[in-house]
Amino acid sequence: MNVRDSEAVTALMLAAGHTLAANEDEAECVIVNSCTVRQKAEDKAVGKTGYLCSTGKLVGLMGCGVKRLGADVFKVLPKLDFAVGPRAFGLIPKIISDLTSSDDLSREADIPVRAKRSAKKQILELGDNLIPSGLDAHEVHGFQAFVTAMIGCDNRCSYCIVPDVRGHEYSRPAAEIVAEVESLAKNGVKEVTLLGQSVLRYGTRNPVYPVDPNNSNIKEPFTRLLRELSVIDGLERIRFTSAHPHGCTDELIKVYQECPKVCRHLHLPVQSGSDRVLKEMGRHYTREEYLSAVKKLRDFDPEFSLTTDVIVGYPGETEEDFELTRSLMEEAQFDNAFIFKYSPRPGTRSAKLPDDVTKEEKERRDQVLLADQELRGQQRNDKLVGTIREVMVEGPSKRNPNRLSGRDSGNRIVVWDKEDGKDWKAGTLARVKIKEAHPQILIGEVA
Ligand code: SAH
Ligand code: SF4
Repeated sequence: MNVRDSEAVTALMLAAGHTLAANEDEAECVIVNSCTVRQKAEDKAVGKTGYLCSTGKLVGLMGCGVKRLGADVFKVLPKLDFAVGPRAFGLIPKIISDLTSSDDLSREADIPVRAKRSAKKQILELGDNLIPSGLDAHEVHGFQAFVTAMIGCDNRCSYCIVPDVRGHEYSRPAAEIVAEVESLAKNGVKEVTLLGQSVLRYGTRNPVYPVDPNNSNIKEPFTRLLRELSVIDGLERIRFTSAHPHGCTDELIKVYQECPKVCRHLHLPVQSGSDRVLKEMGRHYTREEYLSAVKKLRDFDPEFSLTTDVIVGYPGETEEDFELTRSLMEEAQFDNAFIFKYSPRPGTRSAKLPDDVTKEEKERRDQVLLADQELRGQQRNDKLVGTIREVMVEGPSKRNPNRLSGRDSGNRIVVWDKEDGKDWKAGTLARVKIKEAHPQILIGEVA
């Protein structure tokens, strides 16, 4: 989501007449987009911003870190020029114009952007209900684009700071999203990823379609949106993230069945395999409900790719709870997993509980799950050897420029040798036969 917001700000700044610097050193102004979902992420953003402030450039901070720090942001970063919360990024070009429209500009005519350093430190957070401007701003480069479907979150999982910093849940009108994707497709975009904290819940808290008395039979606005996007000319692939097991309905399976552009991959964060912990977290599903969503997807397509997020070391997580997480991961046969060590976030319900799993134990549990996943990834991928994958070409492989790299519908990385003389443009579809499997990568040849 932050990547998407940064792209939108880039597009807005370019539209306002600024240009993108070739690198950080050459930039006159740098804006850092901060994440505060874990303390480590926030510390990294603040550290980087502190360094940039010492260079004399015009420096801004955006994102959820700003919302969490509030006015303290200028105590932590006294030299920061401006700070903008996650729902106010659309105002950045105006803030920069205010900061740089100083009279001293004439004295510094050779330097087009110069901060009015005497200006009052600005922090713009605005309300938790504000609908940001600029959500649809894009600077298209390449064949992939993120599209914001929803902002905010009203779920309030016990450990999570997102609802406090990104505000209330809001689904953008379907017509706006369809128009945005149509325009992206006209500009060469082949693959879009729809974003929302719980994207299958799209359109359930606020209406996203005009009320049509003749058409009240559409129960699930998200599946309707997928169907509308899948008929857009030029668009080849539709992805979305993140998902909640309650959203894995028959209507969704029908979409997978009937709309081949909708990719067969779901990021379905589980967080824990212990019902006791899930209940404390306020995730609103049991281990059994989660696993039945997994079964539904894999019954439909055994190759359906599933990835997840897991938190280790949640307050009070016992060895038994942890082993339940381990066994759930084995049962679910995830294709990939992101493991996070619990980090208490100020103001959340779980921050009031003692953070009682030691750092060493969190590290151990993290390593155990990573090792399990490495083995499982290998086993899952071994089953794909000999199959032909439809792969969207991304470009030369980072490790070996003589090889091309892309992803299959399941978001698996596939790498293959470049054929002599054949120019595979990024965004085209190749059929690749898998010869060799690794835990995180498939190697093949053009079929
Ligand atoms: N909306 C998504 C999650 C978004 S946050 C969902 O509900 O599935 C991304 C991931 O960060 C979460 O899935 C969780 O695993 C992790 N995370 C969030 N808060 C955390 C915390 N306080 N400590 C450790 N990991 C956390
Ligand atoms: Fe956080 Fe839960 Fe909302 Fe995901 S659904 S962003 S974990 S509160």
